[in-house]
Amino acid sequence: MSDEENRPLGLYIHIPFCDRKCDYCDFVSYSMDSKAQQLYLEALFAEIDMVRSEFFDKTFDSIFIGGGTPSIVYEGFIASLARKLYSSFHFLDNTEFTIEVNPSSFTREKFFEYVQAGVNRISVGVQCLDEKLLREHGRIQSMENIEETFKMLNTSQFPNINSDVMIGLPGQTVDSVVDTINYLLKQNVKHISTYTLQVERHTMLYSKLRKGRLSPMKDKTMIEIYNRIDRILTKAGFHRYEISNYAKPGFECKHNLKYWDDGVSYLGLGVAAHSYIDGYRYYNTKRLDTYIDDMKDGKSAVYSREYVSDEERREERIMLSLRTTKGLDLEKFKKDFNEDLLRTHTDVINRFIDKGMVEVKDNFLRIKNAYFAVSNSIIVELI
Ligand code: SF4
Repeated sequence: MSDEENRPLGLYIHIPFCDRKCDYCDFVSYSMDSKAQQLYLEALFAEIDMVRSEFFDKTFDSIFIGGGTPSIVYEGFIASLARKLYSSFHFLDNTEFTIEVNPSSFTREKFFEYVQAGVNRISVGVQCLDEKLLREHGRIQSMENIEETFKMLNTSQFPNINSDVMIGLPGQTVDSVVDTINYLLKQNVKHISTYTLQVERHTMLYSKLRKGRLSPMKDKTMIEIYNRIDRILTKAGFHRYEISNYAKPGFECKHNLKYWDDGVSYLGLGVAAHSYIDGYRYYNTKRLDTYIDDMKDGKSAVYSREYVSDEERREERIMLSLRTTKGLDLEKFKKDFNEDLLRTHTDVINRFIDKGMVEVKDNFLRIKNAYFAVSNSIIVELI
């Protein structure tokens, strides 16, 4: 058995429900009542029962309940799901258990339910504190709910809080992002994920941009925002361990690290979830009605499966590793792909070293922090 096969797996569960659709959102999410949520929970149980025997000899050390808006589901849903997971898979004692919450649907009762269920990491979807701007993009969020959420978490001394911050919304300013980051620092968050808005086709935002009703954020503004965030968070004792992710030491997200380490398997359950198991990628159906019907009929949720070739794995290894501050392990790369990157790409690597953009240290190739903003142009020359 290889080292990778021995490593604990991650478990992702998708909750496809939201209050309403934000203009920029391309995730699979529906606005549904508790009856539909109950049907979905039953379907998840059926999928778990279908796959559990394949994982009887594996261990997991992370659970991530994401969405959609996991905190929107009725009280008792998450506790019941957690019990089902614990009785179906083996989890290590130090398992990281994250749930994403939206302040508008996160209540005291749900908080206690999650803690009782074993949740030890809460990811608060703040995105941006500018209520007016968010409303323009179809996201309903109130400062009052955000304040209540952090007050509740901090009064209970909840130890591990993440917050997501979105960068690149048309109309967003440098100052509004800086205000959001400074606010989060006062709320004792241990981890901040800064996501660049991706404008996806078929979203309301895409059509508004196409019609010229909104203008995209300028690159110059984007770079200034990232530089300001980096300075503020570094000063506050956070370290950037991946292009978009900052953590206080010891609070790096164990689950997300698995996605950036190409050898590590993870199991995704629920509609639109995907998995990577022993070299294969599996994609679950994206249609909620199909998922529920298929689970009732005892059919597999997987609608497609593909083998990840060595060439693809090689490219992914370079791309994903160079997004992290740890960098690319050159020795492991040589062992896994039979290629000494320092020899096959000597000129390119030396050119970037001379420009001060990358470094080779202790057998790791790394992009320097100041050049993460242009990482794509470096990576593309190495693959
Ligand atoms: S809350 Fe998140 S998942 Fe739901 S519609 Fe908005 S962006 Fe999409």
